[in-house]
This record gives sequence, C-alpha cells and structure tokens, in this order.
Amino acid sequence: MIAKVLSVLETVKTIEPKMKAAIYYSQLDIRIEEMPIPEIGSDEVLVEMKACGICGSDLMDWYLKNRAPLVLGHEPSGVIVAKGKAVENFDVGDRVFVHHHVACLKCHYCLHGDYTLCEQFHKTNIVPGGFAEYFKVPAPNLQLDTLKIPDNVSFEEATLIEPVGCCIRAIRKCGIRKGDSVAVIGAGTTGIIHTVLAKIFGAGKVIVSDLVDFRLKVAEKFGADATVNPSKEDLTTVVRKETDGRGVDLAIVSAPSLEAYKTGLGICRKGGKLCVFAPTPPGKFLEVSPKQLFFNELQIIPSYSTSHVETREALELIRSGKIRVRDLITHCFPLEETAKAFKTALEDKESLKVIVLGK
Ligand SMILES: [Zn+2]
Ligand SMILES: [Zn+2]
Repeated sequence: MIAKVLSVLETVKTIEPKMKAAIYYSQLDIRIEEMPIPEIGSDEVLVEMKACGICGSDLMDWYLKNRAPLVLGHEPSGVIVAKGKAVENFDVGDRVFVHHHVACLKCHYCLHGDYTLCEQFHKTNIVPGGFAEYFKVPAPNLQLDTLKIPDNVSFEEATLIEPVGCCIRAIRKCGIRKGDSVAVIGAGTTGIIHTVLAKIFGAGKVIVSDLVDFRLKVAEKFGADATVNPSKEDLTTVVRKETDGRGVDLAIVSAPSLEAYKTGLGICRKGGKLCVFAPTPPGKFLEVSPKQLFFNELQIIPSYSTSHVETREALELIRSGKIRVRDLITHCFPLEETAKAFKTALEDKESLKVIVLGK
C-alpha cells in the first residue's frame, strides 16, 4: 500500500505545474496557452500576477513581430507566492511592482547615469512576461527594482509605476524651468502623464494636442491649460497665440508619428527643446536642417524607458495622490481576454490605459 502511494506521489512530482499565459503571435493573434510555472532559484521569487498594463510599445507590431511568439507585459504588479532560500528583503505575501529591465550600475553607461542604455538593461527580464498567471523575478530585478506596494495603492494603480517613471525620466532630461510653456503632442496615457508632470516640475502653460476629443477632455481634467484637436484647429497658430508669438520652451512628442515630430519642431521657440518620447516605425526619417538647429539653437532630446531611480519617484507620486493614475485606467480585462484587451487598446478611441487582470 505504502509503495503504491509513493509511486503515485512520484508520478505527481514529475508532472510540471502548469499555468495560463497569453502568447503574442501578432497584434491580432494572441492566444491563451498553458505553459509550465517558472521554477525559481535560491535568489529569485515567484509572483502571482494581479494586474499588468498594456503599453504603447506592446502595440508596435514592427517592434515585436521578429520576436514572436512571446509573452508580453512589462507593467506588472502582483503578490509573491514563493521565494528562494537566499532571498532576504522580501516575503511570501508581499504586494509588489516589478520592473522588467534593470541596469548593472557598474558599466560606463551606468556610471554616467545612462541606466537605460546599459548593456544589461535589455538582457534582464521577468519570466515569461506579465501577461501570465505567474512570473519569475530574477535576482537583479529583485534586488534593484522590485518595489513593495503601499496599502493605499491598488494593484491596478501600481501598473502605472513604469509609464510614470518613463515620463519622469524624459521631463527631467529636458530640464523644465519655473513658468516654462510646454506642448504635449499626443494625449494617450503617457501624454496625459506628461501634462501632470510638467505642472509638478514647474511648467506654466501646458498645451495638449490630440486627434481624439475624448483624450483632450481627460487632459483638461489633468491640468492642460489649452487643448487642440489639429483636425479642427491649427496647433502652430494656437501655440503662437499662447506664447506671445515665440513658440513653446518644450515640445514633448508622445505620438509615434512623423507628422507629430514635424509639428513639434515647428512650434519650439528659439532655444527650445523637442523631446522624442515615441518611436516611429523603422524607415521613417525626420528632415532637420542644421542651419535651423544652429541659428535657433534647437535641442532634440530623446528619452527611452525608465530606471530604478524614477520608478521610486513614480510610486511616491502615485501613493501621495499627486498623479491620480486611477483616472487613466479606462478598461480592465481578465487574462483569458487578453486578445480583447489588445484590440481595445488598439482600436477604441475612448481608451487610455487598458489593464489585464490576474486572479
Ligand atoms: Zn512600457
Ligand atoms: Zn550598466
């Protein structure tokens, strides 16, 4: 009898525990499939996903198609359900936000503060991704950029830590001064976050432009002083009117369109800055005249992703209510409906942040 029980246990042991994950084959082909729950090492933890945001970059098929099939999701929050023996600062039951990319802190880039350009940054990742029932947090991610979520912040709100961090990094690189005028082109989730942050960092007038009126209304709620729908009104004219004919001190382009960049360059004042925040597909080029750059001293400042420095600041802004991220969440879908969540994020003009929920 005992031998029989033991042999049954043996069989159970060899069956890998499975979980559901949303596998991305292409933008309109996302399938729920079973895969093994990741095994963790002594310095890693396993997190049960509770919420994970869909990012604009998750919707850039050109960026993803060469890597498919894969499990996306880099804005996750959840609860630690297992930890390795050597893990000290975290416990089972902790509510956490996990940053998928972390810098090494030792290389030339890191020593210059360019953490998102560190070689290790791209190589690190959670396994398999945030759109799964569980994901593993490797040691570098756990040590550098796994943040405990305060009680007054929900799992859904915590998914905005990463996008808010990206915006903080961009705004800081651009160096807003008290009273500066700022234009935000593209009022998706990050465009609206930029609007709030610009104010927090001291901007005076913030002008927001988008082709969707719904988004402009939200931008107004988040502090935009003027909003423009370029299909009805000329942004350049409005900017000139609002800035005594000068143009803005800073134009942030958070729409992945060449047209947006052209407009952005045209509305900067002499000595102004253009922030490159959204990439266009490969093969698209912006014509820039060195003569114009030189005589007008225009600065072009790109900002990619976020580091452990800004994620902490983002969490604090969310915790303290300075950025009401819950008002940016328009849709939530269970993991089983990840395909529908993507379709909504892609097609629904009245969507901002779309979130996939765990159990
Ligand atoms: Zn993102
Ligand atoms: Zn590094």
